[in-house]
Amino acid sequence: MGLFSKEACTFCGTEVGALKRSKLATKEFICNDCKRKTNYFARMSWTTKDQAQNMMDTLGQEAADFEASFDAAQNRFESAEHSFNTWDLGSKRVHYRCNTRLGAFQINLNEMSRYEIPVFWFDRMMPYEFQSDNANLSDMRRSKAMNAGANYVEVDVTKGDDGKVIHCMITIPYDDACIREIKIESDTDDASAFQDFADRINSDRRAWLSKAKFDAERKNRMQVRNLGDTAAAVLKAAVKGESVEDAVKEGIEMANAIEEGKVKQSFFGKLFKK
Ligand SMILES: [Zn+2]
Repeated sequence: MGLFSKEACTFCGTEVGALKRSKLATKEFICNDCKRKTNYFARMSWTTKDQAQNMMDTLGQEAADFEASFDAAQNRFESAEHSFNTWDLGSKRVHYRCNTRLGAFQINLNEMSRYEIPVFWFDRMMPYEFQSDNANLSDMRRSKAMNAGANYVEVDVTKGDDGKVIHCMITIPYDDACIREIKIESDTDDASAFQDFADRINSDRRAWLSKAKFDAERKNRMQVRNLGDTAAAVLKAAVKGESVEDAVKEGIEMANAIEEGKVKQSFFGKLFKK
């Protein structure tokens, strides 16, 4: 044991020294090359072997799906800017892009060049707490995620003896056992760039929330209308001696299609499957 002893990486088997490996929460070692296939912001001491493997298996596909989501959003009136925006945060240069329809964003730093660019979700952007099977706690956490008033992204500013800013840190809380929070910090006298970046993420989160609520309300209105239409169709079928079952079945199919977002409403309120 010790600094110079080599240990085998649990994923690729390569024997590596202390400087080229990390220890997982489940006590195995992971080499730096394999670590680069996980989420850059994941802390290995919080990550189990299975969780690390899961990141390796899914990160690439998630990034590809996120990339594809911009094409899907092109015909809609939504905030989905394909290109990354850049902020200079002291010595760190951060690149960020967001799709508010999807409710997800990506953060990239120059120092992450050998990592997959990870995708993060607004509905998980809240203070980390340990997972619980308690239903009340789950509801509480859900209402936290849906709280439009909360500015979860915060900037901490450190000042020197002369009162001037010397260090800034942005913290994005994240409800993931391996990540818990996304922190970017730098020695800088410019807190405004940090604040501007935080404001941007907070406002994108609010945009996603209002969109999600709008979608839920629209779906509810469609379901009520469908219920009325179905009841009318059932009555009509009964009067005419036609199949009531078919009318009900059609109503259920329409209800499912509304949930899946496959229905649009005409100018006169009639529902059509897309
Ligand atoms: Zn390895």
